[in-house]
Amino acid sequence: MANAKIRLFVDQPLGQGQVIALNEAQANYLFAVMRLGVGAAILVFNGRDGEWRADVAEAGKRKGLLVCAAQTAPLQSPPDLWLLFAPIKKARTDFIVEKATELGAARIIPVQTRFTSADRIRVDKLRAHASEAAEQCGGTFVPQVDDVIPLGKLLADWPPDRRILWCNEHLAGVAEALPKGGAPGPWAILIGPEGGFSESEQVLLAAMPQVVQASLGPRILRADTAAVAALTLWQAHLGDWK
Ligand code: SAH
Repeated sequence: MANAKIRLFVDQPLGQGQVIALNEAQANYLFAVMRLGVGAAILVFNGRDGEWRADVAEAGKRKGLLVCAAQTAPLQSPPDLWLLFAPIKKARTDFIVEKATELGAARIIPVQTRFTSADRIRVDKLRAHASEAAEQCGGTFVPQVDDVIPLGKLLADWPPDRRILWCNEHLAGVAEALPKGGAPGPWAILIGPEGGFSESEQVLLAAMPQVVQASLGPRILRADTAAVAALTLWQAHLGDWK
């Protein structure tokens, strides 16, 4: 059916004839909210096997079955770009995860910095936000969302070949140039918390050979705006928008 419009993230393998067992929330959404019945077609993806058309084979109140009919799109992975950000208030943190998924980050790592004021961040909820964002933007890939990790610990073990675009609000227009041309290789973007980076964090970052410092213009942006701006900048210069 060419008019299958509903896209659903499922956490199961997809392939010709593969049966997908729906959980209660999925069954409720498809059969109670969207009022689909047996024989209806939807699109499913799991972040690994591309997008598939799947037909409803059983529609119950709390469960149901789909059967994979045909692949409609291959897996399209984003560039090897991680987003490191210090969690902020819940709604703004949710926004960052949603936008990072839409803009094409491969991995999202919440970092605890000296001035991070994130109260109780729920990583399971952030993961759900990432798959919902992928459902809506037509993506076939869902970025991995890590548990919160202290910035110092993450940097102590940082891969030597992965560059970090450190968004530093003190630079005001004197950014280092982003390298141009060729495959970009592995990268990460680092966005600080509303309180900025501490002195010792700044010293640590400035000393790392992998770090490229970036300005996002003459105004101080909120962290959620900065995340969107930096992802845009990177994607346009080095990523899959070229
Ligand atoms: N409290 C800080 C501002 C932090 S803004 C201060 O007033 O100095 C939150 C984060 O967004 C910063 O740590 C930085 O990573 C990023 N950011 C905001 N504006 C920026 C800019 N103009 N250039 C580069 N990074 C910026």
